[in-house]
Amino acid sequence: MGCDGGTIPKRHELVKGPKKVEKVDKDAELVAQWNYCTLSQEILRRPIVACELGRLYNKDAVIEFLLDKSAEKALGKAASHIKSIKNVTELRLSDNPAWEGDRGNTKGDKHDDLQRARFICPVVGLEMNGRHRFCFLRCCGCVFSERALKEIKAEVCHTCGAAFQEDDVIVLNGTKEDVEVLKTRMEERRLRAKLEKKPQGHQKLKQRSLKKPALILERRKPTPLPGAQVGATAAVQAAGNQSLCPGGTAVSGRENSSSS
Ligand SMILES: [Zn+2]
Repeated sequence: MGCDGGTIPKRHELVKGPKKVEKVDKDAELVAQWNYCTLSQEILRRPIVACELGRLYNKDAVIEFLLDKSAEKALGKAASHIKSIKNVTELRLSDNPAWEGDRGNTKGDKHDDLQRARFICPVVGLEMNGRHRFCFLRCCGCVFSERALKEIKAEVCHTCGAAFQEDDVIVLNGTKEDVEVLKTRMEERRLRAKLEKKPQGHQKLKQRSLKKPALILERRKPTPLPGAQVGATAAVQAAGNQSLCPGGTAVSGRENSSSS
């Protein structure tokens, strides 16, 4: 090849373009994920909330979305799993003292400000800029880096001391795999909530005893794997088979009075 002059092509001369573009796209995506509301696409400002899948929203955008179901069509997919304001958690974020934001120089180009994260991990000081994994606790809304969570093992929140379980930890803007796991957990959590709420009447009065301890065990178990769907179904069946419902007594009482 034309290396007569002793020139050896450098790597960047051979592999140009695409790589760089890809990187820019990736950066832009990170900036978007970590700085803008998933629903309204407006810049995030407090109160900021996160859903069970770890996406970030402005609270007012979520409220608007819930009030105006016609918006659901357009925005649908991104937030169809948010059925109530209880499905999101208001985040307690720690400000990054190094962030200039709107206070500082207004002439500087905005992009730079977005490169610098607005929030940091209150435990180890990492910036929340998309390069480090961050998570929040559903029980209290405190946000910190995954590194803090892993390095300092604890069963209470590093920031506020609230007790939490594995099921309460939600990775923010996680990978596809993270989201899959979070989704499974979300579905199971909702199923459990439904079962606890609805002691559905009739069917139940016959076998209204037993098995409660087994159900509690089932409830406690967080699901680490997508395969656990099966577990959820089993839980439904288990719950269907048992009765101990307050409604049960009421129904049997009615039956007695009508037959007499
Ligand atoms: Zn906390």
